[in-house]
Amino acid sequence: MRSATDIDKMIRPAPRFLPQMVPAADESRNLRRTMREDGICVLTFDRPGSSANIFDLATLEELRRELDFIAGAPEVKGVVLVSAKPTIFIAGVDLHRLTGGTPQEEIRALLEFGQAQIHRLAQLPVPTVAAIHGAAMGGGYEMSLACDYRLAASDRVTRIGLPETNIGLLPAWGGATRLPRLIGLPKALDFILAGKTVTARQALKLGLVDELVPAERLVRAAVQKISHGKSRRPSHWLVNNPLAVTVLARRLRRRLLQKTRSHYPAVMKAFEVMTNGITKPIAVSLALEREGILELARTNACHNLIRIFFQQERAKKLTREGPAPFPKPKPVARTAVIGAGVMGAGIAQWLSARGLPVVLRDVNTERVAGGMAGIARLYRDAVQRHILTPRDARDGLDRIYPAPMEVPLRHVDLVIEAAVENLELKKKIFQRLGELAGAQTLLATNTSALPVSGLAAVTLRPERVLGLHFFNPVHRMQLVEIIATPQTSPEALARAVQFVQRIGKLPVVVKDSPGFLVNRILMPYLIEAGNLFECGASREHLDEAMLDFGMPMGPMRLLDEVGVDVAQHVAQTLAASFSDRMLVPAVLAKMVEAGLLGRKCGRGFYLYGKSGEPKSNPSAAFVTNQTVAAMTRMALQERMVFLMVNEAAHCLEEQIVATPDDVDFAMIMGAGFAPFRGGPLRYADSLGVEKIVGAMEILADGGATQFKPCGRLRRMAATGIKFYSKP
Ligand code: NAD
Repeated sequence: MRSATDIDKMIRPAPRFLPQMVPAADESRNLRRTMREDGICVLTFDRPGSSANIFDLATLEELRRELDFIAGAPEVKGVVLVSAKPTIFIAGVDLHRLTGGTPQEEIRALLEFGQAQIHRLAQLPVPTVAAIHGAAMGGGYEMSLACDYRLAASDRVTRIGLPETNIGLLPAWGGATRLPRLIGLPKALDFILAGKTVTARQALKLGLVDELVPAERLVRAAVQKISHGKSRRPSHWLVNNPLAVTVLARRLRRRLLQKTRSHYPAVMKAFEVMTNGITKPIAVSLALEREGILELARTNACHNLIRIFFQQERAKKLTREGPAPFPKPKPVARTAVIGAGVMGAGIAQWLSARGLPVVLRDVNTERVAGGMAGIARLYRDAVQRHILTPRDARDGLDRIYPAPMEVPLRHVDLVIEAAVENLELKKKIFQRLGELAGAQTLLATNTSALPVSGLAAVTLRPERVLGLHFFNPVHRMQLVEIIATPQTSPEALARAVQFVQRIGKLPVVVKDSPGFLVNRILMPYLIEAGNLFECGASREHLDEAMLDFGMPMGPMRLLDEVGVDVAQHVAQTLAASFSDRMLVPAVLAKMVEAGLLGRKCGRGFYLYGKSGEPKSNPSAAFVTNQTVAAMTRMALQERMVFLMVNEAAHCLEEQIVATPDDVDFAMIMGAGFAPFRGGPLRYADSLGVEKIVGAMEILADGGATQFKPCGRLRRMAATGIKFYSKP
């Protein structure tokens, strides 16, 4: 490890590999300096030709030059850092530089160079203020931490985050060092280990920023702040002293190990760096950050997590053009949701919170009122968690028009049907919607598995019908499957993609087929869990096995969350189409018959109290034999996961989606498939398809016919081909 005092030596030289990327000495492209008459230097980040500022090497080099200038200009009385972009302060470090084949030396040089510039900023003798408007993420917020003050614009586009642990890294431009010193170690650990991103109001509450200011007054307020002089940081001695840190670290380490099950090295490494670094000089702590991130950048977990980040970015930019002469789809401005149950209410709340008026229709006043109560709860929660202001919440609620009876829908741009999962009922609804809606209205269904083309067929304009499959709970799950039938027009599809992106969700376009993509792949896994339960594997054993694998929740708990009746229904729909490998386990029907529907009624495979962990439900004991009672965790995992891999391969074969990337992305975002493994197909590649096929064939030969590998897997095993050509 380099010595801590190297930080000062790292300041001057630009990294050796920089030359071709660094602007000429007089050319500043990303950073603009304005010297005011009052001696305040305003540095404006404004990356050309982009809506975002990022910290790449060129920007860092420009920052270095500005710091040189400030150091040699006694007339500078203070520095204000701002962004010229409407929604981004600084989006973070250029992640492309930390992935792929970038040599370690290059990564090290980037880290050192960035740390050094930010350290210089922290050491300026004049007061410094970060005037944050828009997203200040990762390195962007770390730079702000080096300032004396952080003012944030109070509007919704301002978000502050250190999400590095989510991509398998840690904040290593001083974030893991300076945040604990600013807000105290316990709060900083909570923020960084969870990779949180928060709103401006939440940031103020946590102490991440000093003040909120309306956006239009931000720069003026920042300039005024300079007159307060250099800031004096709170000591947080009570929580940051060595004894308190040792006690906290001992307690937390155990909890973290339990929670991460050793799958997320970044969380443990960030924890170590922060708990070790807090009692050491800043330069030593910065050195710990550097060594920590270099270690993490080599892990597979990090590569897989960064890949997911890029997949998310790709989904945000996905475009589908409508046909000429209207390649740009008309934005959706008015919406209606049919069905005010769990999903309908969740969707209506989400849309209204994003500024869209929503008609919320259900069969009677009682049902609509139930939906509105659920929506009010969601808004209340958002206010309590400082995600929304009370006024935002009131405005959002006001945008919902409860409709216990039929209302005209001619001027609505999009109707989302979220009534109960019953094909005949949905057909009736679509028939009527076809009559009530305008000629341009998009008609979408949120069905979990039913054929969308069956619904399109009963309308007058099948080209305007598609699926918009939101996941539960709507306010947490980012993925939306957009299901295009053969009749769906390119224009309707383009409009749906744009709509999903505008409401802040991530689209994946899938072909119309039972269960679409995510439920189709997830269901064999849940069915197998049911089979194994019937054959003597305990629910705890099954759940623990899959938690160990890296799923956020075990399959039996997931069945309870989804609703055993809902799961049974989806399983039946899929089993009807894929009877060669999917057979609904009897336990699901028995559970439904006994009224054990899962969390929604407090009783399923587990019992759910008002608080605390769910307990095993002794009444859910529909075990027929004990053949797998002694099966190892690994064997259980293999049975459940290999079926997902097999179904995913079927989906690729049938072109339900275009690429393995689409499959992996959707399974991670929609079903929580162990993100650090990169998705079922990347996992299959890492394990070896031939090994999976071999294990499946043995099981199939033993009579478990659901394990018969599909043609694509068998061909891949025989030829040694992988799903991905690059590791
Ligand atoms: P739910 O039972 O909570 O709500 C359904 C609502 O539809 C009820 O309020 C019911 O009164 C209403 N309804 C019935 N007939 C109607 C009609 N003719 N007009 C208007 N409203 C009518 O169900 P849910 O869990 O919200 O599921 C709704 C849809 O979303 C289903 O198709 C389901 O498969 C799908 N889905 C559910 C989940 C989930 O986890 N629950 C996830 C994704 C998709």
